[in-house]
Amino acid sequence: MTLDVTWAVDWVRRCAAVVAAHREELIELDRQIGDGDHGENMNRGFTAVIAKLDALVTPPGTVGDVLKLVATTLMSTVGGAAGPLYGTAFLRAAKVTDAPAIDSAGVVALIEAALEGIVARGKATTGEKTMVDAWTPAAEAAAHAAAQGVDPVGVLEVAAQAAAEGAESTIPLVATKGRASYLGERSAGHLDPGSRSTALLLAAASEAARD
Ligand code: ADP
Ligand code: MG
Ligand code: MG
Repeated sequence: MTLDVTWAVDWVRRCAAVVAAHREELIELDRQIGDGDHGENMNRGFTAVIAKLDALVTPPGTVGDVLKLVATTLMSTVGGAAGPLYGTAFLRAAKVTDAPAIDSAGVVALIEAALEGIVARGKATTGEKTMVDAWTPAAEAAAHAAAQGVDPVGVLEVAAQAAAEGAESTIPLVATKGRASYLGERSAGHLDPGSRSTALLLAAASEAARD
């Protein structure tokens, strides 16, 4: 089985819904170790994405078309660190999903490309208390599942679970990238907001695939 353009559009709509529902939580997480705008930044971005999606005259032909719309909109509306990072992630993901539907290998390629985009842009590695700590285990879990012959729904399910665990794993870490790094040792004991939003976006992908 495969995931088609309808899945991609449903994923994006669920991203907007989940980001809106968790806006306060993301703000609060970012208030603790950043400047408190992550929930607002993400909500503004995905609200703009939905407006663009609703205004489309021709429906998107490929999964990549949908992800490219997300990328360009996030880049121009989110700002801060997360805008260019998520923008690059979705842009790289769009480049490897230039097809009407994707299989398990395609899901792995999407997540790996997103991670590569974030690393290219932000130069963080795992353990620096950033969204890389959620994307990396997600990519690894997805690749492992796909190699075992798991279908795309199952691949996204394990990826979302790994991202959630990756986000939790940031709590004890001391931030060495991004705004939270200004706090030094005082950043420990808090969950990184970008890794939390990553877990929410991948959970939305999984739910869109399952339903
Ligand atoms: P800002 O810090 O500019 O206010 P946001 O609050 O929207 O931007 O996003 C902060 C999140 O961005 C952090 O929680 C972290 O996950 C992510 N981030 C910051 N810098 C980097 C980086 N260099 N690499 C990867 N992710 C990063
Ligand atoms: Mg912030
Ligand atoms: Mg900011």
